[in-house]
Amino acid sequence: MWCCDCGGYFDVVIDTKFPIDKISKRPPNMWRYREALPQIENKNIVSMGEGFTPLIKFDDLGKNVFIKQEHLFPSGSYKDRGASMMISKIKQLGIKKVVEDSSGNAGSAVAAYCAWANINCDILVPENTSKGKLVQIKSYGANLRLIPGSREKTSLAAFKEAENTYYASHSYNPYFLQGTKTFSYEVTEQLNWKAPDILVLPVGNGTLLLGAYLGFNDLYSSGIIRKIPKIIAIQSKNCAPLADLFNKKILKIEDFKPQNTIAEGIAIANPLRQQAILAAVRNTAGMFITVEEDEIITSLKSTHKKGFFIEPTSAATIAGLKKYMKLFQNNDMVISAFTGSGLKATAKIDSIFKE
Ligand SMILES: *Cc1c(COP(=O)(O)O)cnc(C)c1O
Repeated sequence: MWCCDCGGYFDVVIDTKFPIDKISKRPPNMWRYREALPQIENKNIVSMGEGFTPLIKFDDLGKNVFIKQEHLFPSGSYKDRGASMMISKIKQLGIKKVVEDSSGNAGSAVAAYCAWANINCDILVPENTSKGKLVQIKSYGANLRLIPGSREKTSLAAFKEAENTYYASHSYNPYFLQGTKTFSYEVTEQLNWKAPDILVLPVGNGTLLLGAYLGFNDLYSSGIIRKIPKIIAIQSKNCAPLADLFNKKILKIEDFKPQNTIAEGIAIANPLRQQAILAAVRNTAGMFITVEEDEIITSLKSTHKKGFFIEPTSAATIAGLKKYMKLFQNNDMVISAFTGSGLKATAKIDSIFKE
């Protein structure tokens, strides 16, 4: 089963422990937190040594601003955290074939980990997905299927296939968030087992934001940290249904009319886990910030000029981070992320720099 009979999604609930002495002696990757992860036998762990991405100080944005370099994963985005966990679980279940639908990066990550695990996969993407991501998915050996029409049409095609094939969906499958939650474990360990004050993260479907929230909750309930950071959620103004719901500009999500945005990776008009995302922001006394297309482009350029090659979607988060720092100048410890590599979107980046 990949969803409840009512159509709702499942969550995984497990106990988490953090034996710090043991953890610190293990290799620097996301699997060092195994007492806080779903139980996977060693032989079934599908890992490329991913995780423990560098956390770098970015002081031109503020005294205590740190950015986690999540674009430095094997497939070029933090989605590898989710894929490593989810495909390990799938291997343990003895499943030989899966289907996934994606607008690009999740499909690339699932294709990469399926290749490493020797599992067959069909990746369904909208016809107009960036070339770089298509090439990546295909070259990993996945069966790439281009679906005409909207992102929703692609999901419907995947639901159909999921009647007969295991659905390795990054939004429905709860094991994906069990992987992305390691973002928070690493940040906390990198800060000497202290929680930051503020998290500035992108949100479309919320795979990073919800994973991060889950991770900090685990650390809190295990007594490792004393507070959960405030979550500042960033959306592109052209596709900001959750920001508008949060700020009561619309009453229901269907009332939001999305427009095109250069931040293609977070252009999700009707995210599955929307109530959980709104609750995470509300429960941490956080807020939503939206960014305009020109602000995304300015942030993309300034980030590249400092030597970091990120994709346009990731620049939306940095634009939001800049806006937040301008609004609330203080010495809080602020954490954000470079979510995806620019190597996936060179054509788009080229056209931006030509303007
Ligand atoms: C997936 C992704 C995000 C976040 O998207 P969600 O839909 O919230 O999971 C942000 N940046 C990049 C580059 C991504 O691939």
